Amino acid sequence: TPFSMDAIHISEWFDYICDHYFAEFSFDRSQIEVQWSHNMVWYSGKTEYPTASSATIMMNKKLLEMLPLEETVETYIHEAIHAILHVTKREYNGDPDHGDAFMREARRIQAINPHLDHLHIATPDYMEQVNTIKKYHWKCSDKCARTNIPELAGYVDAGGWVSRARNKAPGKGEPRWNDHVKLCG
Ligand SMILES: [Zn+2]
Ligand SMILES: [Zn+2]
Repeated sequence: TPFSMDAIHISEWFDYICDHYFAEFSFDRSQIEVQWSHNMVWYSGKTEYPTASSATIMMNKKLLEMLPLEETVETYIHEAIHAILHVTKREYNGDPDHGDAFMREARRIQAINPHLDHLHIATPDYMEQVNTIKKYHWKCSDKCARTNIPELAGYVDAGGWVSRARNKAPGKGEPRWNDHVKLCG
């Protein structure tokens, strides 16, 4: 993925997504507004439709920062499908969920980039998202399994558990791994 959370502005991501996945659709990009939301709670992304020819994509900054970058990319493309179908009205009947038109676009984009394998999933609520996405678990067998080490909060959960969306075990090369080595052993 060419994306980096900090380096690229959200509107540049949108240009990238349009160029790579929606080149065949004709619409004016100013019809779609994109913004980070700092106060969304329940969804990772959300699209609103202020008029028949405009859409606003909102991305949940706080939640997406906790999740792997791929989740931001997939959420963004998911919301872009909603927004672009709305402004181009291509076989779109205003159905807010994920009907035929939506699924057709999701499959088309997955054929271009097979890594995008969660596009069809409705952005679920916060806890559901965190719980279903974090499906890989590791357990430290040392000190942090027995005692809560406050300095490791956000890296190691209670009981020494680390849960992640991707199958990437905690280890060297992570900024907080050295903290773990120092504090836990
Ligand atoms: Zn959706
Ligand atoms: Zn430990």
